[in-house]
Amino acid sequence: MPKYIFVTGGVVSSLGKGITAASIGVLLKSRGLRIVHQKFDPYLNVDPGTMNPYQHGEVYVTDDGAETDLDLGHYERFTGVTTNKNCNYTAGRIYDAIIKKERRGDYLGGTVQVVPHVTTEICNSIRSVASNEVDVVICEIGGTVGDIESLPFLEALRQFRLQEGRNNVLFIHVTLIPYLKMAGEIKTKPTQHSVGKLREIGIMPDMLICRTEKHIDKDARKKISLFCNVDEEAVIEAFDAPHSIYEVPLDFAAQDIDQVIIDILGLRAGRRNLKAWRDYVDRVINAEKTVNIAIVGKYSELLDAYKSIHESLNHAGAFHSAKVKILSVSAEEIERNGADKILKDADGILVPGGFGGRGVEGKILAVKYARENKVPYFGICYGMHMAVIEFARNVLKLECADTTENNGETKYPVIHLMEEQKRIMNLGGTMRLGAFPCTLKKGTVARKAYGKDQISERHRHRYEYNNDYREQFEKAGLVVCGESPDGMLVEMVEIENHPWFVGVQFHPEFKSRPVDPHPLFRDFVGASLKQTGKK
Ligand code: GLN
Repeated sequence: MPKYIFVTGGVVSSLGKGITAASIGVLLKSRGLRIVHQKFDPYLNVDPGTMNPYQHGEVYVTDDGAETDLDLGHYERFTGVTTNKNCNYTAGRIYDAIIKKERRGDYLGGTVQVVPHVTTEICNSIRSVASNEVDVVICEIGGTVGDIESLPFLEALRQFRLQEGRNNVLFIHVTLIPYLKMAGEIKTKPTQHSVGKLREIGIMPDMLICRTEKHIDKDARKKISLFCNVDEEAVIEAFDAPHSIYEVPLDFAAQDIDQVIIDILGLRAGRRNLKAWRDYVDRVINAEKTVNIAIVGKYSELLDAYKSIHESLNHAGAFHSAKVKILSVSAEEIERNGADKILKDADGILVPGGFGGRGVEGKILAVKYARENKVPYFGICYGMHMAVIEFARNVLKLECADTTENNGETKYPVIHLMEEQKRIMNLGGTMRLGAFPCTLKKGTVARKAYGKDQISERHRHRYEYNNDYREQFEKAGLVVCGESPDGMLVEMVEIENHPWFVGVQFHPEFKSRPVDPHPLFRDFVGASLKQTGKK
C-alpha cells in the first residue's frame, strides 16, 4: 500500500504550497517512486467551475473532464503524471456526497455528523487515488491552518494517520519566516504559533518548509527545530525562485529533502536524476532572445487567470532559448483606445478562453489587427470564436455576425450553442468537458505542428463553430484543420497566407510540460520570434 504525504500551510496563504507539493513530487519521481498528487479545497462550491477568475484563478480541466483547482496544473506540469477527478475534492463535493447518501437512506437511524461522517468521507476520498500502482500519495490541503473551513480536513488527517500507521504518513507544514527590517532579523514566532495550532488538533509536523527572504542560519534552524519539535535536517528553507518556479525542485534537491522524506517513510528508492530538469532551467536562465506575446483577455491584471497559458508560453520560449515577455492586455482597453497602439510591440497575439460579453469587441479588434498585420495569432476556445466572428464580419462581410452566447438575435450565428447543450439548465459541471479526439487535416499548419493525424485535447465549452457557414469560410481562406472524428464538430481553424494564425476549440495549455512543450505553443512562439526581426 502507498505511503502518504500531507502538505498543510500556515501563517498566511499564497505560500506556494502547490509548487512545493509539485516539487516534492518531481524529486520522489526522479528517485523512481510512483507518485500521485491530490488537493483538498475547503470551500463549499462542489468544484471551482462556477467561480470567476477573481475568486479562483484558472480552472484546470483533467482528461476525464473534471473542473479543478489550478494546482493540479502545477502537479501535471512538474511531474508529467496525469491527474483525474479524484485528484481534487472540495468540501462542497464531500458534503454533496454525504447529503446524497443521507437522502438515499444510507445512514438510516443515525445522526449524520462532521465526526465521523465527514471525516470518514474525506479519508475515503484520500484512498480513492491510492492503488498498488502508487508508492506515494502527495496530498495538499488548501487554505491555512486555523481557518474554520480547514478543521474537518485536519481532523480527518489525524484519524488517517492513526488508521494507516505512523510510519506510513508524513506531515509537511509550509510556513513563513518573515524578516523584520527594523529588527534586522528573521522571526520564527508565527511559525511556532502555526505549528502550535496544528498540534492542538493532534498533528505533529515531520517537516517544515520555511518560505523566507533571508537565509535561515544554524541558530535559527536549531531554534525552529526545538520549538516546533521537528528534526533540524527537516527544517527546509524555501526562497523565491529568482528565474523560474522550475528551480524549486533543484533548490529542494540541494537540501536533500527527498532523502529526508525517504528515510522517514522507510521508502526504497533509486538515485536521483534531474538532468532534463536542470537543462530546462539552464535554458530559461540563459535565454538571450526576447519575444513579446500579448494576451488579450478580460482579466489582464490577474496573474492566475491564465496560469497554464503563461506556463505553456514559458515552456515554448525555453524550447527556442528565448524569454517570453507577456504583455497582459485588457480587451476593454482596446475597445477604448483601438488595437494599433496597444498591440504595436506584440510579436504574437493570443486570445484565451473566456465567457460573456465584456471585452468581446476588443478581442475581435485584436484578431483583426493580427490578421491584417500578419502578426502570429493563437486563439484558444473563446479566442477561436473571436477569430471566426472577426473573419465573418470583415472578410465574409456578414455584418454583425456573432456568437449566440452574446447575441441570441444575430442574423449570422457563426458560433452557436452545441446541440447537446440546449436542454441543460444547471451551470455546474455541464459544459463539454475533458479530452476528446481530433483528426487533423493533411498539409495544414496544425498537422505540421503535431506531426500526426490523431490528437487528443481537453475541452471546456458550450458553444461551437456553426457548420452552416463552413463552405463560405473555407472558400475565403479560413480553413478547418482539425475536426471531431465523426466530422460533426470543428475543433481547429487556420488562415492560409498568414505567418501563423490558428484557432482551437480546446485548451492546449493544459498539456504543455517544461521539457515537452506543447507543439502549438512551440510553433506559435517560433513564428512570433520570426516577427521580432520584422519590427
Ligand atoms: N464561452 C465559450 C463557450 O462556452 C468559450 C469557453 C472557453 O473559452 N473556455 O463555448
